[in-house]
Amino acid sequence: MSRLCLPACISGLITAMGLAGVSQADEPSFNTVRIDDRNYVNLADVARYYEFNRNWTQEGLNVALRSKLKWKKLDLRIDSCDGKVNGVRIWLNHSPLENRNSVLISEVDVRKTLDPVLRPWAVRKKKVKTVMIDPGHGGEDRGARGKRGSTEKHLTLDLAMRVEKLLKEAGFKVVMTRRRDTYISLEDRSELANSSDADLFVSLHFNSVANSKQPQGVETYCLTPVGLSSTGSIRQRFGIANFDKEPGNAFDYQNMLLAYLVQQRLLAGVPKVEDRGIKRARFFVIKATEIPSILIENGFLSHPVEEKRILTSAHRNKLAVAIVEGIKKYAELMNPS
Ligand SMILES: [Zn+2]
Repeated sequence: MSRLCLPACISGLITAMGLAGVSQADEPSFNTVRIDDRNYVNLADVARYYEFNRNWTQEGLNVALRSKLKWKKLDLRIDSCDGKVNGVRIWLNHSPLENRNSVLISEVDVRKTLDPVLRPWAVRKKKVKTVMIDPGHGGEDRGARGKRGSTEKHLTLDLAMRVEKLLKEAGFKVVMTRRRDTYISLEDRSELANSSDADLFVSLHFNSVANSKQPQGVETYCLTPVGLSSTGSIRQRFGIANFDKEPGNAFDYQNMLLAYLVQQRLLAGVPKVEDRGIKRARFFVIKATEIPSILIENGFLSHPVEEKRILTSAHRNKLAVAIVEGIKKYAELMNPS
């Protein structure tokens, strides 16, 4: 639940949308209301700007916006960061609020989370010719382990090789952070990306959780924007912002668009996969890398059924195909003919 004291503490301050930091080529501008030192936008204005139907549906706390031709969908839940854009789960940085018969959504979520997905054509173009693939872990760092004996470091390398082959077939140049079972530090991985001619960085991992067989599914991470806290962190729970600007923050919009396209293709192309959403984190390899970057958690080795699936070559091939489809779609948007 929201901790805000509505509506008494609404300052009513109306400002134009700020353009601090890296911005879109053609930044939207909204009136905002300021609540607890945070700017919020009225959902009616968001609906108008992104050409959703004026009358959205609201059942309890669930709000559903649809475009006239229904190709664009936005599903939000009041007092929850758990949302969906075009059917893909996206974790917002702040919960939408209900106030005086209006629904409010934080300005930073409109700009940094929704805008790159709803207006991909406005994301600053940077051609994609070379892709760096980073198989997580290696050598003494084995990563997660499953009950059936699966080891993350071997599975990430196997998946990376499949992605590399498909990317090359699609005409991309591919650079790998490792091709063998060797240890490479996180710093060295980012350094390799920054000293190469790579245009994108994609880190591959498999997940695991101790003492629970429950969680399963795929999640794609992109870097947390400046002034925000990462998804599900203690800082987020207590509303504590982090104002450190990382090199990867120069690509906030590209990072989000790439994460969305890859997560969307994973959901569409891999059977039985659960959608854990697009999340924010400050993992070293996505924050220190000076090109658009994402980190994909391709499933849980700690989930007995998912581990069994991941151990099949057919499943890993479907993961690879979906990841490459996402990268190809991103490259198409970046390299318009
Ligand atoms: Zn890992």
